Amino acid sequence: MISLHTLCKPVFHSHVCHYPFKTVALRVVIETLILAALAFAAMSGIAQASPTANTPTIQTPPQTQNAVPQTLQTPVQAANTPQPQTPAQSQPAAPKCVKGSMPQPAALPLSNQQPGVKVVVDAPNYYTVFGTTISQAKAQIAQCSPVENGRYAAVTTSAINWQFSYYKDSTTLQCKISTVAVGVHTAFLYPSWNTPNQQWRTFMASITIHEQGHAAMDLAAANAILTDLQTMPLTDCATIGAAADYRANGHIAALRQANASYDTDTNHGATQGARL
Ligand SMILES: [Zn+2]
Repeated sequence: MISLHTLCKPVFHSHVCHYPFKTVALRVVIETLILAALAFAAMSGIAQASPTANTPTIQTPPQTQNAVPQTLQTPVQAANTPQPQTPAQSQPAAPKCVKGSMPQPAALPLSNQQPGVKVVVDAPNYYTVFGTTISQAKAQIAQCSPVENGRYAAVTTSAINWQFSYYKDSTTLQCKISTVAVGVHTAFLYPSWNTPNQQWRTFMASITIHEQGHAAMDLAAANAILTDLQTMPLTDCATIGAAADYRANGHIAALRQANASYDTDTNHGATQGARL
């Protein structure tokens, strides 16, 4: 019975790391799967102090421009209208929001005694936005969402890791994987508005559906890694660890693509109703 001896520590935003460790084979990949959109593009132009500490490794997907379309015009039209009897009653200033934190789910502890896929989905995290109108809520999302500097309202992040053991076949002297465990730990971040109305509730329901779509893809990738490693053929013992990681990382790469395509196809959830 041979075990691999590597451990990877989670790194967020699409990195794989490799740290030497004893006794188990464990690789961790953390995928930050962005997502959710707002079609409230207006805010995309808002300059913000860049929280470089928060987002050093974010790979800004090109889709970000996609989220800008329809609603951009709305405020303009409002400005053009002569403003009849509604005196520009200055809305009471809303309390300031506090910037949310990107969810950072930890890699799950895995054991060769518990092979299979282990799933943990955290209860959603929220950052609160204030105000009495949708436009105030949108403005506060732009200020306090940590997702790409306020460009998006919500995010799904999954930590996916895997561990396997293998043995040397006495006949062929090659190695074969015996047990595989894969962990997927998913966390969400959403806005919460202190004075929600029906429009907001519809938005939240839609954006939740969108984020759950990302989570489902993450889980599917974990299952694909499990199956792939379980069925790996006999492999040279010197390279089986790297070969297994190569396969698993291929699924992670495919997952990134799938999530990006999902965002392109849905305009980050806008076509699913996640727009304000
Ligand atoms: Zn998305």
